[in-house]
Amino acid sequence: MDNAIESALYIVPTPIGNLSDITLRAVEVLKNVDYIGAEDTRHSQLLLNNYGIKTKMFSLHDYNEIQKRDYLVNTIKEGKSVALISDAGTPLISDPGYHVVSYCRDLGIKVIPLPGPCAAITALSASGLPTNNFIFMGFLPTKEKALNTELSAILDETRTCVFYESPKRIVYTLEAINEVLGSERRVVIGRELTKTFESFYDLPAGQMLDFLREDPNRTRGEFVLMIAGIQEKNEISPKVVETMKLLMNEMPLKKAASICAAIYQLKKNELYDYALKNGLADQK
Ligand code: SAM
Repeated sequence: MDNAIESALYIVPTPIGNLSDITLRAVEVLKNVDYIGAEDTRHSQLLLNNYGIKTKMFSLHDYNEIQKRDYLVNTIKEGKSVALISDAGTPLISDPGYHVVSYCRDLGIKVIPLPGPCAAITALSASGLPTNNFIFMGFLPTKEKALNTELSAILDETRTCVFYESPKRIVYTLEAINEVLGSERRVVIGRELTKTFESFYDLPAGQMLDFLREDPNRTRGEFVLMIAGIQEKNEISPKVVETMKLLMNEMPLKKAASICAAIYQLKKNELYDYALKNGLADQK
């Protein structure tokens, strides 16, 4: 693929803190497109100045995206090129751009994405949580009822859940996580990524809440909140069932479950419940 600028809409990620986190291609595209549609032109001017980018900007944000999309499409149809940027990270990821991109796609306008910074992926990659299967859920609702409903929906979630959260709400959200998902659910927070005070906190929800409350500095800045998925329940294998039966011939169910759990490194309560539900105790 050569890097010549086409008549198209370019989706260009920008740094999430450290200004050096911009790709050579992103700078090249921003320098050479006809226009840049920016979420906040004043904010993005700093980035443009830093890289000597002189391209004309226009504003394209949540509140004018639908009005501006015809202007944008017509500009591209006239043979011009436009780059879309947000204040930080990848446009459209909890940022404006969805209406414009879907409109362009519907009308057959070429949309060219550039890879680059995204807080969710940056945090996840260093979190130590499973990354093979995860869900990104953006910002959690602010209203208590909706927040609890959304958290209840991930009670049995086995995938890593990734959220964005603000400094104003991080403690409130942790309280809700603690309440709905329990104090033992593992939470990892990626704070101020790529910046001076970058930190990762990895604690069960209850302890995380205490940890954040202990020091107001820990609730400053920007946050990616990650909630570990629950362990998938292992099928009780035929071998384990056989062992349970043998043990139960010799001892009470509770003791059998405890010994069997130790042998196979399973949870004794699960074995106990399994034996009751599957009538192992009755077969004696
Ligand atoms: N589009 C952006 C992206 O690709 O990451 C996200 C935009 S969203 C409006 C902003 C939220 O992203 C912040 O409230 C915070 O939750 C998260 N975020 C952005 N920069 C971050 C950083 N440097 N460290 C931690 N979280 C960050």
